Amino acid sequence: MILHDSDLLADVPVVSSSEPLDQLDKMEEACGVFGLYAPGEDVATLTYFGLYALQHRGQESAGIATIDGETIHCYKHMGLVSQVFDEERLKTLPGQAAVGHTRYSTTGSSLVVNAQPAIVESRLGALALAHNGNLVNTVDLREHLQRQGCTFSTTTDSEMIALAIAQEVNQGKDWLNGALSAFIHCQGAYSLVIGTPEGIMGVRDPHGIRPLVIGILPGPTRRYVLASETCGLDIIGAEYLRSVEPGELVWISEEGMASFHWAQKPQRKLCVFEMIYFSRPDSIVNEETLYSYRLRLGQRLAQESQIEADMVIGVPDSGIPAAIGYAQTSGIQYAEGLIKNRYVGRTFIQPTQSMRESGIRMKLNPLKDVLQGKRIIMIDDSIVRGTTSRKIVKALRDAGATEIHMLISSPPVTHPCFYGLDTDTQDQLVAATHSVAEIKERIGVDSLVYLSWEGMLQSTGEAPEHFCSACFTGDYPIEIPEQIKRSKLILEDAVA
Ligand code: SF4
Repeated sequence: MILHDSDLLADVPVVSSSEPLDQLDKMEEACGVFGLYAPGEDVATLTYFGLYALQHRGQESAGIATIDGETIHCYKHMGLVSQVFDEERLKTLPGQAAVGHTRYSTTGSSLVVNAQPAIVESRLGALALAHNGNLVNTVDLREHLQRQGCTFSTTTDSEMIALAIAQEVNQGKDWLNGALSAFIHCQGAYSLVIGTPEGIMGVRDPHGIRPLVIGILPGPTRRYVLASETCGLDIIGAEYLRSVEPGELVWISEEGMASFHWAQKPQRKLCVFEMIYFSRPDSIVNEETLYSYRLRLGQRLAQESQIEADMVIGVPDSGIPAAIGYAQTSGIQYAEGLIKNRYVGRTFIQPTQSMRESGIRMKLNPLKDVLQGKRIIMIDDSIVRGTTSRKIVKALRDAGATEIHMLISSPPVTHPCFYGLDTDTQDQLVAATHSVAEIKERIGVDSLVYLSWEGMLQSTGEAPEHFCSACFTGDYPIEIPEQIKRSKLILEDAVA
């Protein structure tokens, strides 16, 4: 039985042209997922806080489904977690387990009907599914499901995964085997949290492109938590246990947690962009915070480039750890040169053109007395289109900086992502169509240096083959079907 309490039928379109004012010219994270099995706890409120910590992974919609015996209670809507939920709303979500989701749309348009968790009925009751990632075989999967008589309420690949599981369950399988059979039909990136009347599951695709971690709540009984990142565990006082492995399914129920390694040849290919930018710096990957990794990126950048300057600044917030690392190794003084307005968030109010023009000043303001007469090294984590960088450089020059050297703690982004990040098409990526010298001219800096691909991956301390770095190389670890490629890549025959 499903109890929905959202305005799903309203199918409200969202103003899609408004760029998030705090993240112009960055690739957008697709989603954050969260789940827990904790009888006796206020699972809705714990999930609310978990999603609150994962807000950076998706700001378009938020949803929580709680499982109360046979019944799934669900509320989801457009907006930030704090806009969608309040105490009264959370009280309407009872249960012993919960699944939560924050979304930034990739597959599927910005409609409330596409908010997650996706809820689907089956022979054994309803399931609630939260997905981070992107399937690449949606055309084939849709046809496969249609042949089985499935109908779709949304335009998302996440609903397809939920329907595929329900189909297998309807053919007589239990939840576990139904899910394992369904994943055979799914190709691409998927980190999932799935709630059922009997327990919850955490799953990662065989390449583990998107992260998913397991934690445990303190107390005499073992109550497990799943989250996209460890910051989602920290906020509710859960202790980090480990990552869900690529190609692993963990089943959490009243009997505890069981692990199933279902993929034939799992091969870890964690998205390296999670390391350099997307995941929060306080989240842990490979037993250390990403802050430490990003510090090393800056140190490596200093080894790879020798530039004379008076001070190093970082573009808040994501460029700051690398800027500190650069200062440590180069011996050039680190300073704050740009202050971020932390209260400018994603907005559904459409800005006017003139507001758009001044978007940078809305979120970043230069410190004139710090910058006046100085030769500046400015460090950012990436350049996607280059539009924001140009505005920042102009603001620094207006503030009196005499030289601006831009250093990027990753290589040039030349290819789009098909695995769950909202990137532009290839022709919109400035490094796909311009040389470094041309980008330097467009941005208006005195010099422009990117970190090498080797430097980015060697700084992880792991073998390069453990990461996906396709947006820097075009070497996609999961094959992209031709019709999907054509939607984003510049293909020679398409140009001809
Ligand atoms: S293509 Fe880039 S953004 Fe996409 S998963 Fe690979 S490294 Fe991450």
